[in-house]
Amino acid sequence: MSKVQFPTKGESPEVLLQQLKDLKKNDLPWQSGKVFAYIYGAKPETMQMAADAYQMYLTENGLDPSSFPSLLHLEREVITMLCGLLHGGDEAVGNCTSGGTESVILAVKTARDYARATRPEITAPEIIICETAHPCFHKAGHYLGVKVVMIEADPNTYCADVKKMEAAINDQTILMVGSAPSYTHGVIDPIEELAAIAYARNILFHVDACVGGMYLPFAAMLGYDIPPFDFAVKGVTSISCDLHKYGYVPKGCSSILYRNKELRQYQLFSCSVWPGYTIVNPTVLSSKTGGPLAAAWSMFHHWGIEGYKKAVKECQEATQQFIEGLKTIPELQLIGDPAIALFTMVSKHEKLDIFQLADAMQKRGWYLQAQLASRLSPQGIHISISQHNVPHIDAVIEDLKICIAQLIASQSAQPSSADMMAGMDSNMIQLLLADFNPDMLDMLEAVLGTNESGLPDNMVMINNILNTLSTEQRDMLLTAFVNRMYSSR
Ligand SMILES: *Cc1c(COP(=O)(O)O)cnc(C)c1O
Repeated sequence: MSKVQFPTKGESPEVLLQQLKDLKKNDLPWQSGKVFAYIYGAKPETMQMAADAYQMYLTENGLDPSSFPSLLHLEREVITMLCGLLHGGDEAVGNCTSGGTESVILAVKTARDYARATRPEITAPEIIICETAHPCFHKAGHYLGVKVVMIEADPNTYCADVKKMEAAINDQTILMVGSAPSYTHGVIDPIEELAAIAYARNILFHVDACVGGMYLPFAAMLGYDIPPFDFAVKGVTSISCDLHKYGYVPKGCSSILYRNKELRQYQLFSCSVWPGYTIVNPTVLSSKTGGPLAAAWSMFHHWGIEGYKKAVKECQEATQQFIEGLKTIPELQLIGDPAIALFTMVSKHEKLDIFQLADAMQKRGWYLQAQLASRLSPQGIHISISQHNVPHIDAVIEDLKICIAQLIASQSAQPSSADMMAGMDSNMIQLLLADFNPDMLDMLEAVLGTNESGLPDNMVMINNILNTLSTEQRDMLLTAFVNRMYSSR
């Protein structure tokens, strides 16, 4: 492919929009409802309304609410509705952000700066998370110079281990974290117990309800057994809640909520030393589109509690249906006891390579998310069910059975990817990585091949290679690879 040049002459909108459409041909066809990750899809007419609202506010700038007061109005309303949903009382405050990661970065920054102001004896601040907490906490620590202390989960429930979390507290601890629920296994950490410990020790406590915040309240209203996880729990000081997951808002929309505005104060940034316009930012982004806010506002009012309850009920029932289906597939096993429509399944059959299963399913039009092995659980497949997946549960179970039967039957004829790796000059890959430098990506790519998008062709092999590496080696390889992936070609 020749390198793109900045065009001398302009092209017509029709041609360009058609080109954009054509470019999507290799993207996941999420509209089928057969993609069980990345997309939280609702009915097309609902998604269209949210997209129209987004489009209407595309150009307005959230940088300065005094110039676009309608954006301030929308954000106040969205946050007030959320605070009500999450039992924030009259004191709770918050802001909309671009995503769960931004919300969590802000929660950690707030904790850091609150500690700087109120506990100046802390010189090397630490936060305590369970190993099942989302990687955005590691990212926040990485960006903000805060040490992340990662604690092993309970190996039976995959929940945070309260005793171990408590034992990790020291005089530098500024924040403890619980997930409601964790993404991987869909299980809710013991928030009440953890928050009570944090409260007693005068430490802030953050609930990561990025994926559960727009789901658990409605599940509780429907009568599902959901333990208290929000501001109703004493000691919970902040909550992150994504709207672009089970809020069904288009991407670019999350929220960070605090028990009161005295704490939120430490989230804000103001800068008056430069000669330009006045800067005072509640969140990380400065200039930002009003689209996500308008979309969130319209979704909340369009669905209301009734609409969200309906979506949650459908997803809970579809999850149950999926889990019942899994019981009829002896080669697969659900791990953990998911509280919501998120879970992990692993292979129980020595001849079933779970990465090959994900690949075979993709060839039949399904997308199931592959997960590498970790200290806590073996390699597996992750499923997130949202409303648009609900009609496809019987079909996905059916195809899982077909793929598994085919994969196991073909095992003798076709070597498994693990065998293929073993055959690949035994420890060649390990050797390569022991003394890795980014130039060696060429060698890896030559072995693995690339598709027409310039991405690795053989995801089964890639996943199996990554799976055998240490986490340090994985991160080294992945950063080098992605650094190159985004280079011009
Ligand atoms: C998705 C998720 C996040 C991060 O959210 P992004 O919007 O992808 O940045 C954080 N925590 C949990 C539990 C999540 O599921």
